[in-house]
Amino acid sequence: MKAYIIEKDKLKNNIDIVKKRAGDKPIYGVIKAGGYGLGLLQFARMLRDEGIDRFAVTEPSDAIRLRMAGFIDEEILVMRSVATEGDVSDIIDAHAIATIGSYNDAMLLSGLAEKHSEIVEAHIKIDTGMGRYGFLPEETEKIAQIYRFMKRINITGLYTHFSCAFANKKMTKQQLDRLLETAQTLRNAGCNPGCVHAGNSSFLFRGDLSSTDAVRIGSAFLGRLPFRAKANCGLQPVGYARCDVAEVRWLAEGQTVGYGAAYRCKKPTRIAVIPFGYTDGFGVARVNDIFRFRDKLRYLLHDVKLLFMRKRMYVTIRGRRAPVLGHIGMVHCVADITGIQCEVGDEVVLDVSPLYANPLIERIYE
Ligand SMILES: *Cc1c(COP(=O)(O)O)cnc(C)c1O
Repeated sequence: MKAYIIEKDKLKNNIDIVKKRAGDKPIYGVIKAGGYGLGLLQFARMLRDEGIDRFAVTEPSDAIRLRMAGFIDEEILVMRSVATEGDVSDIIDAHAIATIGSYNDAMLLSGLAEKHSEIVEAHIKIDTGMGRYGFLPEETEKIAQIYRFMKRINITGLYTHFSCAFANKKMTKQQLDRLLETAQTLRNAGCNPGCVHAGNSSFLFRGDLSSTDAVRIGSAFLGRLPFRAKANCGLQPVGYARCDVAEVRWLAEGQTVGYGAAYRCKKPTRIAVIPFGYTDGFGVARVNDIFRFRDKLRYLLHDVKLLFMRKRMYVTIRGRRAPVLGHIGMVHCVADITGIQCEVGDEVVLDVSPLYANPLIERIYE
């Protein structure tokens, strides 16, 4: 059976580390994108059981799902601007906290709140460098007008999102300063910004939390941070995929494997056919988003290293690493099991990030 396994003990360990690191700052458990692939409801329940009592999603419909599940009464922040009436209705129905990133957002929210005779809670988003959602820091007068004129909007927070907390401390500091200055300008204008928050996982481990009131954490729970320091923090990568060997056979010397006949057996080779491919999320994790020269260089070095080290993908069968042969197919891959005791039906373990594991694959907490 194909499944995605989440090791509860590792997840709990990561949650404990995050909690310790956050100290007395409240933590928004970010569970966007199906809880980073750990399953929206399952992950939310786990976080809640471990004492996380604020949640953040991107889609208003996720806020509805969380409320319908019945075990979450706590704050749910929807971290993108309201775009449509449907979004606003969902937020109102779910008693979630909206994000306002423009005066138009505020107008839409205010109008519908009026129509539903509701007071809607909202946080104001400031764009300090992400280029998505948010007032610019110099637009405080527009924000102040929401406080003054839109009585059905109850603003309880002000936040921004860091663009490079994993790499660039200077840029991050600038972003933070711009947020804090905006908060101060608002206070001076008699508007209470409420909970001022900015930090994501990278900032939690690399930044100074003292000037903000809360953090929003996702990746750290998964133990998958984009920098090396994780080794020191004790975070452990959570999750792996599992399926069963579908076929075992011998291939003769010279026989080829997979599309493009990219692999040719150099000797008689015993192989296992594994019904798990790239649409399941195997071997797809690396994204070549090349903008800067230094990224080009990084990817190039990575490829050169692969070339010389003949670094391959592996799967694990009966506790032994079996190299993947040829290209990974849409729903299949093939592993070399020469010298491994392996039968049809044996369990295969694959290293797949939960983010890329196909959402249709069942998530199992063990
Ligand atoms: C995803 C996200 C986070 C969490 O970031 P991590 O690095 O995964 O902890 C925080 N805030 C916003 C707005 C996000 O979109």
